[in-house]
Amino acid sequence: MADDKNCLFCKIARKEIPAKILHEDDRCVAFHDINPQAPVHFLVIPKRHIPGLNEITPGDSDEIGHILQTIRELAKKTGISGNGYRVINNVGSYGGQTVFHIHFHVLGGRALAWPPG
Ligand code: 5GP
Ligand code: ZN
Repeated sequence: MADDKNCLFCKIARKEIPAKILHEDDRCVAFHDINPQAPVHFLVIPKRHIPGLNEITPGDSDEIGHILQTIRELAKKTGISGNGYRVINNVGSYGGQTVFHIHFHVLGGRALAWPPG
């Protein structure tokens, strides 16, 4: 599992790899997914390297809460708030996680099917 030196999303947070950044503050970064699955599809990550939801601790609660507040604001900003949208956190191999730096997908701009595959 990647540490912060080799981690793709740490590199995006440090601007070592380009991304279409939507928002940045002291704790998190939001950027458009490179392979969007909906008209609006962005990812929100903490700047600090946390591999996934299984690894969060009570000390991370403030950071994770801040990410959810940021998602609410960015949903408004990208125009998907009113019709609704989906927030997804994939965990591990059965969950479909491919990048092991915790990230929240935000998808909107069309009606999304349920249940997921
Ligand atoms: P996961 O499958 O881990 O939940 O989601 C990883 C997401 O990261 C995928 O939706 C994938 O398209 C996106 N992704 C992978 N590499 C890059 C990249 O280099 N830049 C951006 N913007 N997104 C990426
Ligand atoms: Zn990382």
